[in-house]
Amino acid sequence: MHSINKIGDCFWYMTPIAETDRPILGMVVGQNKTLMIDAGNSEEHAHYFQEELLKMGVPNPDMVVLTHWHWDHIFGLSALRHIVSIASKKTKTAMEKLIPFSWSDEALDARVKEGIEIEFCARAIKEEFKDHRDIQIVLPNVTFDKRVEIDLGGVTCILQHVGGDHAADSVVVYIKEEKILFLADCIYPNLYAEKVHYTVKETLRLLAELEQFDADTYIPSHQQPITKEAFNQEVAMLRTIATYTDSCDGDSQKIMQAYKKHVKRELTEDEIETISDFVNGY
Ligand SMILES: [Zn+2]
Repeated sequence: MHSINKIGDCFWYMTPIAETDRPILGMVVGQNKTLMIDAGNSEEHAHYFQEELLKMGVPNPDMVVLTHWHWDHIFGLSALRHIVSIASKKTKTAMEKLIPFSWSDEALDARVKEGIEIEFCARAIKEEFKDHRDIQIVLPNVTFDKRVEIDLGGVTCILQHVGGDHAADSVVVYIKEEKILFLADCIYPNLYAEKVHYTVKETLRLLAELEQFDADTYIPSHQQPITKEAFNQEVAMLRTIATYTDSCDGDSQKIMQAYKKHVKRELTEDEIETISDFVNGY
């Protein structure tokens, strides 16, 4: 079950669902305009969020921003054709490549076999679209290269292309007055590869860019909002492992020993997985 929560005066979000890979959706409500963050993994997902918010007196959006091209963030866009959709140029280009695809079980399975689609996503698409497979890729209306600032009236959103290993087109949304940084999936590893991985160079570059934003709350799309403290811990973990990956020449055992010595305790499952992702990307 989804639940809807509010942070600050003008930001609402809906919690994710793991089984169907539904990410968090956001809504920033200004005095003049309302901006939705991500279109959702289906029309049902997009509709549900808007309908539930409307019951709470939150207006429907005037605009929607896509954080990156992955299916779970864009398949809902066909339900939002009447409003202005915004994305990075890279996101639009990546979405164009999805237009010819069929989304039937057979077509999905074939693409998984060819290594174009990943098993995890194919399974989630089948789970989300149980009754029909009427999926239409709708392209964004407005595109930008690096950065766009939107004044919604009393609240400003900065959309910035940050890239990263997860998706080269990743955009974050900084809600200035609320000090919220909507990270979407940008700090996750690359899943669309033979092996799930992080690269040292991209990770260090991305973290430095994210640290430029002065935020109190950070929102990773497939988890829960986190505090500045928790974000800083995550950044420190990724940065330290990235640095050790380099100095240990990608040797898993050496990285684990060095990291263990650094934190002065046994490693958590999350840390072991992260080390494995960096070794895969080395
Ligand atoms: Zn993603």
